[in-house]
Amino acid sequence: MYDNCRLCPNACGVDRHVKAGVCGQKDVVRIAWSGLHRGEEPPVSGRNGAGMVFFTGCPLGCRFCQNWQISSGDEDAYGMDVTLDELAEVFLQLQSFGAASLDLVTGTHFIPSIAEALDLARGRGFSLPVVWNSSGYESVEGLEIIDPYVDLYLVDVKTYDRQVARTFCGRERYVDSIDGCMDFITTHHPHTDLDRLQGTLVRHLVFPGTLAATRSFIRRFARRYRSSCALSLMVQFIPPKGDVSFDPISDEEYDGLIDLLDECGIEDGFVQDRSDDDILWIPDFTKDVPFPASFADALPYFLDLRRSKLS
Ligand code: SF4
Repeated sequence: MYDNCRLCPNACGVDRHVKAGVCGQKDVVRIAWSGLHRGEEPPVSGRNGAGMVFFTGCPLGCRFCQNWQISSGDEDAYGMDVTLDELAEVFLQLQSFGAASLDLVTGTHFIPSIAEALDLARGRGFSLPVVWNSSGYESVEGLEIIDPYVDLYLVDVKTYDRQVARTFCGRERYVDSIDGCMDFITTHHPHTDLDRLQGTLVRHLVFPGTLAATRSFIRRFARRYRSSCALSLMVQFIPPKGDVSFDPISDEEYDGLIDLLDECGIEDGFVQDRSDDDILWIPDFTKDVPFPASFADALPYFLDLRRSKLS
């Protein structure tokens, strides 16, 4: 797939052994952080935390991205190169560290390498449930490779509205590809059991000033996916670089969305608590622990690896 890359709907067709595509990454896996995180949805975090691996680069270009240090389409976005052997060892070390799950964040552009590293890790005793934590911006070709390894899709459905996609997601074509992604996922995983970390948990972040688009998304979710997926409604939008300013969702708007979930019979899932509003969710990946300390612990193996590579 790296010879003529079509892992995501950008379908760059570049030879990534030679050059990067829109995601900014060639064929060498780069990761920005690994450790336990207790801020994911409860079944994913478990008691000790989800075992996170944040990959560098991203095929989308969301203006609001909280992970902007690592997700830009620049080749020098923050992160370090790892071999497949090292990546497999990260997975194994997360398991030994007590992770409830392996939570792979935005690995779309490294799908073939991640699949290979998972094979290596499984050969050495890796057995954690695998959570594919993505923007929903994968091609069917990419999904076909990673699907056999995935237990739970933790997948964004950002919007079905072209204007919202243009303003917030960086790529209007997100709207054209998300149905194909969701159809693939729900065909291959028609049932969701969050206690067993199986199936699909759809995340939808409410963008400010776009309530009509969110209400329309909720109705569509209820029609198409209520029986096969759970929903996680998030309200933590923060303009990360301070270059845009939007009014946050009001209490009345928030309450209205909760009412709509009830009306639509959406019961399986989570709604982000507004009391979390004062938590600083924007990570600083240059730190050993990029998140609030009560939420995360760095993986010692990752820190050693980073020290040895970046020194
Ligand atoms: S992963 Fe997507 S953005 Fe990156 S090179 Fe492949 S098709 Fe292009």
